[in-house]
Amino acid sequence: MNYQQIIERIHQEVLLHKNYGEVADYIPELAGIDDDQFGVCLAHVDGKIYRTGDWQTHFSLQSIVKVLLLSLAYARLGGQLWQRVGVEPSGTPFNSLGTLEHDDGIPRNPFSNAGALVVSDVLLDLYQDPKAALLDLIHSFSGDEGIQFDRNVAESEKAEGYRNVALVNFLKSLGNIHNDVDDVLALYFDCCSVAINCEQLAKTFLFFANNGQTIDDHHRLLNRSQTKRINAIMLTCGFYDEAGDFAYQVGLPGKSGVGGGIVAVLPKEFSIAVWSPRLNEKGNSYRGLKFLEQFTTETGQSIF
Ligand code: GLU
Repeated sequence: MNYQQIIERIHQEVLLHKNYGEVADYIPELAGIDDDQFGVCLAHVDGKIYRTGDWQTHFSLQSIVKVLLLSLAYARLGGQLWQRVGVEPSGTPFNSLGTLEHDDGIPRNPFSNAGALVVSDVLLDLYQDPKAALLDLIHSFSGDEGIQFDRNVAESEKAEGYRNVALVNFLKSLGNIHNDVDDVLALYFDCCSVAINCEQLAKTFLFFANNGQTIDDHHRLLNRSQTKRINAIMLTCGFYDEAGDFAYQVGLPGKSGVGGGIVAVLPKEFSIAVWSPRLNEKGNSYRGLKFLEQFTTETGQSIF
């Protein structure tokens, strides 16, 4: 498969179409970005890397970090974690408070904001310094020590993150947050703020395509079974209330973020990161979705 040629051509084709959608401006620091940027990187388990477009530009990881937070918690706690958060698709927007009261404060899945806040709370109990644990993971799995939190993005979200403040307090009132709500929020916002580019993101997520271990030094975070389960949660819950559509159109486990990034995985083959800041009405990158749909349709490289 000539991945370089394929990604370049599809990238060009997507660029020919009008760019739709809006940048996520509810986090003010994300609003000022050049919204026509569009990058792609595919990292293959054979060690080859394919890149095109604005793959070097850093963007805000946002919800994509929820997969890494979940992995850190699941690696230490195993199946006990599911007493605090479920694994069902919610069919609701990422920041919904809707089902929590009915579900006694157990978020439907770890990729909703409610779920990620509970996972952040769990991490505060499991790790002495969960932020350092996250950065260590990203540094060692991407092979790049330069990746950092973006203080401006984190502060910007802290200043206006009313929905997440409501969620964490609601969860606390229902007994599913054990730490101080401000500590949980600070951890969550900082982790969402990681600045990353397409290559760094594709490399970081390659272990999900490689049974839970890195391809070169076989560094392992999750065992094979745990990796399978997290891939399953990405497939069913990775795209807010558009997860079914993504499975139907693209057919890969993946996760999106309101920074405009999407990362997707084909087990035993590759991870692919796409980034373009304009989001559709469900909060997923408009161009990123278009690219991935065309990519898996043309190459047949999906899990189905
Ligand atoms: N930090 C963002 C929020 O909590 C993440 C949302 C997302 O990327 O979906 O609103």
